[in-house]
Amino acid sequence: MKVEDLYQEIILDHYRAKHHSGLRDPYEVEVHHVNPSCGDEVTLRVHVDGGTVTDVSYEGQGCSISQASTSVMTDLVIGRPVADGLELHQEFLTLMQSKGALEPDEERLEDAIAFAGVSKFPARVKCALLGWSAFKDAALQASASPADNQQGVSR
Ligand code: ZN
Repeated sequence: MKVEDLYQEIILDHYRAKHHSGLRDPYEVEVHHVNPSCGDEVTLRVHVDGGTVTDVSYEGQGCSISQASTSVMTDLVIGRPVADGLELHQEFLTLMQSKGALEPDEERLEDAIAFAGVSKFPARVKCALLGWSAFKDAALQASASPADNQQGVSR
């Protein structure tokens, strides 16, 4: 089996049976991101507890790449510290901007390495990044407000 076929299989598996899909409670932040160039949409909720991403739930529609990538992302970030989840976002972003020149780090990115080939197609990169961008947006908002409260900002 060629590596491209294997990657295609991983993407289709996630598309057919999306992990952690559906919108759940509790959550701190809900965001809605769209990728107009392809028509992909995702509504995504993040639940952060004690600095850890305890849940990411979502409802999306669009192409198989956007849907599968969001599914893979939830597998990677749920259960991790927010900072680590944001680092993974950065690593995936770097991979997607590599135009196929970067060897993906399977230890870190797990199933997300399947999207390495997508980085050669600029029109599809936004599809693969949609769920990740939504996660970053929501995670930053979720970790920003409680931290301010904990620091007891005096007025
Ligand atoms: Zn798409």
